[in-house]
Amino acid sequence: MRAVVIGGGIVGLTSGLALRRAGIDVVIHEQAPELRAAGAGLGLWANALAVFDDLGVGDRVRAIGKPGEMYFHDAAGRLLETPEFGVEDHRFLLVHRAKLTDLLADAVGRENLRLATGFAGYEEHADHVGVRLTDGSEENADVLVGADGAYSAVRGQLVPGTPVQEHLGHHAWRAVIPDPGLALTEDRLILGAHGCRGGYVRTHDGHVYWLVNQFDAPEPAGTLKQQALDRVAHLEDGGNSGVLAELIAATPEDRILHNRIMLVPPLPHWVSARVVLAGDAAHAMSPHITAGATLGIEDAALLGRLLTPAGDVPAALAAYEADRIPRYARVAELSAAVEHAPTPRQFARHYAAFSHWMMTPAHAATENPVQA
Ligand SMILES: Cc1cc2nc3c(=O)[nH]c(=O)nc-3n(C[C@H](O)[C@H](O)[C@H](O)COP(=O)(O)OP(=O)(O)OC[C@H]3O[C@@H](n4cnc5c(N)ncnc54)[C@H](O)[C@@H]3O)c2cc1C
Repeated sequence: MRAVVIGGGIVGLTSGLALRRAGIDVVIHEQAPELRAAGAGLGLWANALAVFDDLGVGDRVRAIGKPGEMYFHDAAGRLLETPEFGVEDHRFLLVHRAKLTDLLADAVGRENLRLATGFAGYEEHADHVGVRLTDGSEENADVLVGADGAYSAVRGQLVPGTPVQEHLGHHAWRAVIPDPGLALTEDRLILGAHGCRGGYVRTHDGHVYWLVNQFDAPEPAGTLKQQALDRVAHLEDGGNSGVLAELIAATPEDRILHNRIMLVPPLPHWVSARVVLAGDAAHAMSPHITAGATLGIEDAALLGRLLTPAGDVPAALAAYEADRIPRYARVAELSAAVEHAPTPRQFARHYAAFSHWMMTPAHAATENPVQA
């Protein structure tokens, strides 16, 4: 059995690794000339770590990560308690995206990666799929995995009319920097006013990852640093004299990443007989639940379990879709409850409810434990 994976992001690489572990030949095509890991820090939840354990790289992933706990505070510095949930619902591992990408590429085997070869189209046949690439070459495979992100060209052909949509007014600013002498002893995640969330988390190598998000943001103006600082007044009652403000002020402008948030609409199908979507290609979502990569890693693991060297590809992909579409319908509901929570306290509770649900085995995870 041979698989072509499009996209060398976290989900494409994890898919490649899972399929190789299942005994399937894999080639991953990445359009960029090198593996780029846009972004900064990435929070991985227990279900992603369980996948990496199964794939034999869990210890290596933990070695590049720093364990943390996702508890929120309000702008006055008060802890927003979530007594319905245990500490295990808050635990995550913070990794640097570039390091995770490198680790996964090594685990897949660099010889199985083709850089600077983009996806151009596919032709599906009863017993194989032909994949055309932008360098003019073609590949035949038993299965094509589209892990090419929110703007997925594979999705464009598999599910036409589903272009990525902007989550209007939702912006994110973030950076990883060396600790500028603040000698931070704790992490801090803050839910503030005017739809602002932010905070800072120390990384395993003594750097600091800071982030600021805003829903319903006015159109940003000025430098990226100024845009982030403008939001800090809603996050730290001390205005621009708090730790977050100091971290942003100490960040060179060219190290600040700014994203408009892009969403993939709910899809009527994720697969055909021999083509399947995984990760953001299928379900790019708002990062306010910090779970897009974790859920994409689950997709990859499921593909690795269902596809077997001598197996029936259409049946495996149908089983994958039957599992994933209902799970993501629930993700969308719980995520919306977080996004539309009227107060920081309720945001914190719905957030913990989402994490709890996401990390509970699927058969037990039908209810949202938040009653309010
Ligand atoms: C601000 C922000 C913070 C976030 N924080 C978290 C977090 O803490 N935890 C978490 O779990 N998730 C988080 N997410 C979500 C997470 O970043 C994504 O869900 C995850 O990176 C998706 O991975 P992917 O491999 O599916 O897609 P991508 O990372 O987009 O990778 C797709 C790859 O495909 C390649 N590609 C695209 N088109 C083609 C083509 N035609 N041919 C070949 N290659 C192609 C691209 O170059 C890219 O390398 C966050 C997102 C944002 C915006």
